[in-house]
Amino acid sequence: MQKRIPHSDDYDPILLERMLFKISKRWIAGYSNTDAIADARKSNQNGMSAILNYLGEGNTEKSQIDRSVSEYFALLELLKSNNIRGSISVKPSQIGLSVGYDVCLENFRKISEKAKQTGHFVWIDIENSTYVQDTLSLYLEILRKNRDSGVAIQSYLRRSQSDLLNLMENSASIRIVKGAYSEEKDRAYQSNIEISQNFSRLIKLLFKEPSYDGIVAIATHDSKLIDRALALSDNKSKIIQNLQFQLLKGVRDELKQQLVRKGHVVSEYIPYGEKWLQYSLRRIRERKRNILLLARSLIQS
Ligand SMILES: Cc1cc2nc3c(=O)[nH]c(=O)nc-3n(C[C@H](O)[C@H](O)[C@H](O)COP(=O)(O)OP(=O)(O)OC[C@H]3O[C@@H](n4cnc5c(N)ncnc54)[C@H](O)[C@@H]3O)c2cc1C
Repeated sequence: MQKRIPHSDDYDPILLERMLFKISKRWIAGYSNTDAIADARKSNQNGMSAILNYLGEGNTEKSQIDRSVSEYFALLELLKSNNIRGSISVKPSQIGLSVGYDVCLENFRKISEKAKQTGHFVWIDIENSTYVQDTLSLYLEILRKNRDSGVAIQSYLRRSQSDLLNLMENSASIRIVKGAYSEEKDRAYQSNIEISQNFSRLIKLLFKEPSYDGIVAIATHDSKLIDRALALSDNKSKIIQNLQFQLLKGVRDELKQQLVRKGHVVSEYIPYGEKWLQYSLRRIRERKRNILLLARSLIQS
């Protein structure tokens, strides 16, 4: 008998979503801020700080933007009332950058003020290259009023070295990442070798300044780059004090624990919210083994 080829109508979309959510739980806390707080507590119990991110980007509707700002307010209150060691990480296009610079700045100011009241650090995620200049300008404005804030820069961008030097002049707190978006050749290095080489160059620049007093966050799961950062920070006690490693929830948990055991400051980035699917697909695509995990689950169900 001939085998029937499955048709897209054969799949139940609700079942498919439920199954994807189950797989995604590895990388996200869940739908709500209570899920995020529960995961943050686990991070604290495992010796790490938590960086909470309410998922969403590219918001253009006022209602979505306001909803995101009030969510961060609620989250900061929850971090405080639950006595969680943690911070928040916000995407500019989630709180108005897709609409305009001033809308976003106003919202960042509100969130930053609230974070100062509750005593938490605010990280600013960096998005695709069209937003980079505005994000760095926004950050420098926020930094003037709130030293407990930091921004990410991407080692795949050719411009990042000069951005880093500018940030360093302002004693900024800096998170270095490889970069998660698809960028053109003229703006971004394309090969992992070049991206990693630039990552090393950026760390080296930061560590050249022994009295640097901003936070230096190495946000990668790449053991070679983590080892490079550790080797470069050796004997520079001031930097070691401000050095931290940031890794995503669900990725390289054993490495996180090794770093904690060695006495390093480690933070776990924990996303949550209704927009979990796009984020989880990015994590799945990142690694062949994760694609196989998804395929196996699809076949099994
Ligand atoms: C805390 C944090 C914050 C971030 N913030 C931003 C931001 O603001 N803007 C931005 O553009 N990007 C951000 N990123 C994402 C970053 O840019 C990379 O896309 C992502 O971290 C993957 O790159 P990598 O440095 O881990 O190196 P990779 O070369 O992707 O991975 C190195 C090694 O880590 C392991 N690994 C990587 N991914 C997985 C996985 N999913 N599952 C299991 N093992 C894996 C593998 O062993 C792999 O060989 C952030 C990342 C982190 C950790």
